[in-house]
Amino acid sequence: MLTSGIDIRPSTTDNVGLFATEPVPAGTVVWLPCAKCPTWSADELGAVPAERFGLLDKYGHLLEDGSLLLPCMGAFLMNHSCAANVLDTGLDFGVAVRDIAPGEEVTCDYATFTADIGWSMECNCRTSECRGTITTEQGHDPALRARLMDRIDRILPRVGAVDQPLHDVVSAVSPAYARLRQGADSVAADGGGTTVCAPSFMPR
Ligand SMILES: [Zn+2]
Ligand SMILES: [Zn+2]
Repeated sequence: MLTSGIDIRPSTTDNVGLFATEPVPAGTVVWLPCAKCPTWSADELGAVPAERFGLLDKYGHLLEDGSLLLPCMGAFLMNHSCAANVLDTGLDFGVAVRDIAPGEEVTCDYATFTADIGWSMECNCRTSECRGTITTEQGHDPALRARLMDRIDRILPRVGAVDQPLHDVVSAVSPAYARLRQGADSVAADGGGTTVCAPSFMPR
């Protein structure tokens, strides 16, 4: 699921990307894996023709149970940036970590899709923080995780304060979100094991 006020436009990063058409305040839940996102089980993935698998591998993300989820409402078109304005480390949703202005591209950090073992790509984000090659291994790196978590921690109090277009959807599936809306300023209560790679609505 993807929040409102976001459009698909040409991007210098990868052909097309997602761009804000309205201000997206820091603390807004921008996307989350939800029950409406199409999924493929590990067995179904094994039977997908190679060409189609290439597309799913590019746009979907693998979950911890080996299935693949394609973020719905066009959220799968969100590009990577090494200075992403949407992050999900330690969360089961992606949150705006700074104010995003209309016309700005909305980006996340692909290193956080840690269940996709061995995946990598050359980055074209052109930011001063660019890591060059992006790998899912980087998502396990304590130094990078700490840097991303620090950006998230600073805006967590705002999750409970800003208008949330996705409130009904995310409150139904994310205990971390529910705690933040109740005034918690951290999501560490569950040990920080929450991730977009193991959404709570998926059967365990
Ligand atoms: Zn969805
Ligand atoms: Zn980069």
